[in-house]
Amino acid sequence: MQLADLKWTDIDALSRKTPIVIPIAALEQHGRHMPLFTDSLLLGEVIRRVTERLKDRVLFTPLMWLGNSEHHIDFPGTMTAAPRAYLDVLKDMAENFLVHKFTRIVLVNGHGGNIVPAQQAMFEVRQKYRDRQGLALLSTTYWTLGAKPNEMDKSLVQTRMGHACEWETSMMLRLAPHLVGDYKAAKAVGQYARFEPANRGWITKDRTEPGHIGDPRTASAEKGELLFKLFADDVTNFLQRVIDWDGASEVG
Ligand SMILES: [Zn+2]
Repeated sequence: MQLADLKWTDIDALSRKTPIVIPIAALEQHGRHMPLFTDSLLLGEVIRRVTERLKDRVLFTPLMWLGNSEHHIDFPGTMTAAPRAYLDVLKDMAENFLVHKFTRIVLVNGHGGNIVPAQQAMFEVRQKYRDRQGLALLSTTYWTLGAKPNEMDKSLVQTRMGHACEWETSMMLRLAPHLVGDYKAAKAVGQYARFEPANRGWITKDRTEPGHIGDPRTASAEKGELLFKLFADDVTNFLQRVIDWDGASEVG
C-alpha cells in the first residue's frame, strides 16, 4: 500500500499492527560519473520490487530524499539537513504514526550517513513512548541485511558497499544507464578507512578527491540486476519478519 494514494479513512481502518515503512535516502554528490539522486533512485527501485511482493501487508510512505549528507557538502549540488535537524525529522515521521497508535515503524535506509541518525531516532522515540507495549521501532539499511553478492558472482570485485562504487554504479547501469557518465575512466579509491574497525569522524574529502569510494570501473548492468535482486529479497524477508512478529516475544 502507498500512503500517498490513500485517504485518511483508509489509514484509520488499518490494523495498528500494519508495518509502516518509511524509506530514507539522500541527494548528494556521487563522484564525477553518477547523478546526485543516486541513493534515492536505488532505494526507490529496491522498495518498488519489495512493494510488488508485499502488496497490502505493509504501508509505504513516500521516500524521504533529504538525508544527513553533511560530509559531502564540499561538493556542489549536495543537499543536506543538519544532523540534529535530520534526527528530529526522523523522530517526527515515526511519531506521526505513533499518535494514531500504530506499533510497527520501519526506517528502510539507502544512505550510509543516515545509519546512525536512524538508530538514534528510534532509540529516542522508544524512550519517549516507554509506556507503550508491543512496539517495534526499527531501522535498517538495505545492503546490511546479510547479502554477500561477491559470493554469488565472483566477478564482483568489492566485498562491501562503497560510494558511487562498483555496486552502486552497477545498479544505476541497470536502472538508468543514461544517467551514468564515464565510469570506466574513474580511478579505484580504497574502501577501507584508516583506523578501522574504529569509527573516525570524517569529511568526504579526507578519503577521496573525485567523490567516489570503491572501484566503479568493473560495474555492469548484469551485476546491478543481481544486486537489486539480493537486496530486494533481503528487505522483503526482513519486513515479513516484522509482519509475522507476535507483538510480544523479544527473542528469535
Ligand atoms: Zn550512494
